[in-house]
This record gives sequence, C-alpha cells and structure tokens, in this order.
Amino acid sequence: MRAFVLDRDGWGLADLPDPRPGAGQVVVRTTAAGLCHSDLTLASRSVDQHPFALPLVLGHELAGTVEALGPGVAEHAGIEVGAAVVGYGPRGCGRCGRCASGAENYCRTPGPRLPPGLGAPGALAELVAVDADHLVPAPGVSPAQAAALTDAGLTARHALERAVMAVGLPAEETTVVVIGVGGLGHVAVQLARRAGSRLLAVDRLPAKRELAARCGADHVLAPGPSLARAVRELTQGRGADVVLDLVGSSSSLDLASEVVAIGGIVSIVGVGSGRLAVGMHALPLGVRTDLPYWGTRPELVGLLGLAAAGEVRVEVEEVGLEAVEAAYARLAAGEVLGRAVARPRG
Ligand code: NAD
Ligand code: ZN
Ligand code: ZN
Repeated sequence: MRAFVLDRDGWGLADLPDPRPGAGQVVVRTTAAGLCHSDLTLASRSVDQHPFALPLVLGHELAGTVEALGPGVAEHAGIEVGAAVVGYGPRGCGRCGRCASGAENYCRTPGPRLPPGLGAPGALAELVAVDADHLVPAPGVSPAQAAALTDAGLTARHALERAVMAVGLPAEETTVVVIGVGGLGHVAVQLARRAGSRLLAVDRLPAKRELAARCGADHVLAPGPSLARAVRELTQGRGADVVLDLVGSSSSLDLASEVVAIGGIVSIVGVGSGRLAVGMHALPLGVRTDLPYWGTRPELVGLLGLAAAGEVRVEVEEVGLEAVEAAYARLAAGEVLGRAVARPRG
C-alpha cells in the first residue's frame, strides 16, 4: 500500500506492506485523513529529540471503512466489515475513572498504547491497523468531514466548552476571542456562534478572517499594536471572558494576556513555543489558564451528530496522497483554508 511516512531524513510517499490486524485490532481502509498543524511541529523535531520511533506513517485524523477484523475482535453494531468509522485518537489505560467517562485524553495512568500518526502507524495510508475499541461509527457524515472532526473539530469543541464552563457565565453573556482561524479555529468559531456567545476572531491572514466572518464571528481583527485596544473597545472595556489561543506563540499569548477579562480564562491550544507569564499583576484577577488536549469520546460522538444534522461544517480541501507533501507546505505557509484532507483513493 502507499503511505505518507516521516523518516529520519525527511518525509514522503513510500510503498509499505499491507498491515495485518493484531489482537484487538481492525484494519481500516482509509477514506480520508486530515493534515494537522501538529504534524508540522512533529516533523520539525530533530531526529535525536523525536518523541516517536521513526519511520512513522503520519495522520491522526482517520475516517475509513472496516476492512478486516483481527483476532479477538467480534463484529458488533457499527463496526462490521464495510461500516463507515472514524478513529477516536487519545489512548488511555481504559480503566481509570477518566477513561471510563470517555476522557482518555486525560487518563491518569496512560499505558504504552499511542494514537495512530502519533506513535502508532497513522491514517495517511491506504490501510491502517487500529485498536478496535477506538473506532466510532460515523454514518451519515462524508469522509472528509468525519476525518477533520476527529481532531480539528474535537479539539476545538473540547477547548471551547471547557473554557466557557470554567468561566461560569451563561454562554450568551460570554465574550470569546479566537486567535488563529485555521483548521481548529474555524470550527471553534462555528461552535461559539451556535452557543450564542459574543465572538471576535483574530488571524494574520485576510482569507482566514473572511472565513471567520462566514463562520459567524461578530468581528474579525488582524493582529497588530492596536488590537488589544480594539478588543477592549468592542467589549465595553471588559475584555474577553474566554481567549482561545490556537497559535501559542509569544505574540499570540501576549495578546491573550492583554485582552483577557477579570475572571476569564486563557486556553492555550496551539503548540507554538510561546510562554504566558502567570502571576499576580501579570494577569487580571481571577484569570485561569488551561492546556487542553484533544477531546473526549462523548464530545466526538456529539460532534458527528451535529455534522450529520448539518449544524457544523468543516471547510475542507481534498488532496490525493501524492499531493500531501505539497499540502503540508501550503499549510505551513498559511495557504490552506480550513482543513486539508487526504483521500488515499482519490
Ligand atoms: P492551522 O495552521 O490550520 O491554523 C493556524 C492559524 O493561525 C492560521 O490561520 C494562521 O494564519 C493563524 N496564525 C498564525 N500565527 C498567528 C498569529 N500570530 N496571530 C493570529 N493568527 C495567527 O493550524 P491547526 O491545525 O488549526 O492547529 C492550530 C494549533 O493547535 C497548532 O499549534 C496545532 O499544533 C495545535 N493543536 C493542538 C491540539 C491540542 O490537543 N492541544 C490538537 C490539535 C492541534
Ligand atoms: Zn492534530
Ligand atoms: Zn485511564
């Protein structure tokens, strides 16, 4: 099969043997696999600092159809051969209280299992062997939408809802600032709009600001020296109750600290290398910070339902496997609108 592989000397397409399902696994024929900005960060790590064994098939946003069941996997509703599924990414122990509630993203005792594309062979391949207990039925959602929802959608939803809940105001009285309207950000904008929050979106690129406006942002703003003042003016001096930083650079975090309101929250989702100064007088009183990771299984199931009902829509750009490298380059340059999603079978 063909796969997109990160190796010690770079990345590119490779021919690999078809995977066989191990015990407890299912082989999925990939119908769509999303390209995440985190893959760029992963690829930029030096070989001796790499967190995962290389070579590694990338792709942690998986949609596909069940191809073959491995030893010990019984066919059950939604996971029969031919069924449309997505991968729930986070891997926990499966037994602690958090895992039992579906929040494997915050497992208290994570074991050796790793998500596809983030340690285990990923979805940017014609076939992928994945843990059967991490597949979620996804009928009624197109492959490209479904794939992008497993991370771009899920992470945006999780970070936003967790932050709004922490602030404790009714959603419609909450002002949300979304910094970075990319794959994750444009879904966050849609979900904040749906909740009825007051919504400001910031991106350095005009096309992303236009996307934010189409997704329902009340105001779209460009970063710059006058941005913090503009946010204060648009919020009657109060600032933003929720700042969702989907960039995580020093400039985006500086902005976050300048615009967050008393009792608000700065949620740092982006894995840029910036640092936020936390301390008395560094931030307004009562401000909290959060470092959300991915999302919970119930949140993913709910999101697939919203997408099936047409209430959330990821802007996707579909590419073949042979165009993945070019698509990553365009993602790095900020030229992908929404999510680039690979379709291994075209
Ligand atoms: P993306 O490249 O699609 O979007 C990033 C957006 O930020 C782009 O629109 C870009 O123009 C904009 N941007 C960059 N610098 C900016 C700045 N200084 N001010 C304003 N806008 C700026 O990326 P994505 O796939 O949506 O991922 C967003 C971030 O979230 C990445 O850092 C990614 O690694 C991270 N991520 C984190 C998790 C998690 O669990 N915490 C999960 C997925 C992705
Ligand atoms: Zn990701
Ligand atoms: Zn656990």
